Amino acid sequence: MATLFTKIIEREIPAQIVYEDAHVVGFKDINPQAPVHVLFVPRREIATLNDLGGEDAVLAGRLVLAAAAYAKQEGFADSGYRTVFNCNRDGGQTVYHIHLHLLAGRPLSWPPG
Ligand code: 5GP
Repeated sequence: MATLFTKIIEREIPAQIVYEDAHVVGFKDINPQAPVHVLFVPRREIATLNDLGGEDAVLAGRLVLAAAAYAKQEGFADSGYRTVFNCNRDGGQTVYHIHLHLLAGRPLSWPPG
């Protein structure tokens, strides 16, 4: 059974896709928590960060690099942004296909809720 995010990647469910390469797709979050809220998702389904193996180190890095490239392209790299992976219940994960949240466009408080 394909994950929700695979269905977005496969264009079965509409989303605003803003970034795409051979391994990673980025699309706007349907419920944005900041003026910019993009999810960077590997094309390959991996449920949680706990399911990453050593062989996935490059893929995990690709998610981070994609987010940073998007920040530079969109012009908010210098003003700043936040990247977040939520993991499992206490981390607030709701979609079990790993994704890196990129949030920007307003000052982001710390600690998070
Ligand atoms: P999580 O809570 O798993 O870290 O993040 C899941 C994110 O996916 C949430 O921020 C949520 O708003 C977003 N989301 C859930 N369903 C959809 C959808 O159908 N389309 C898009 N673009 N985002 C979604």
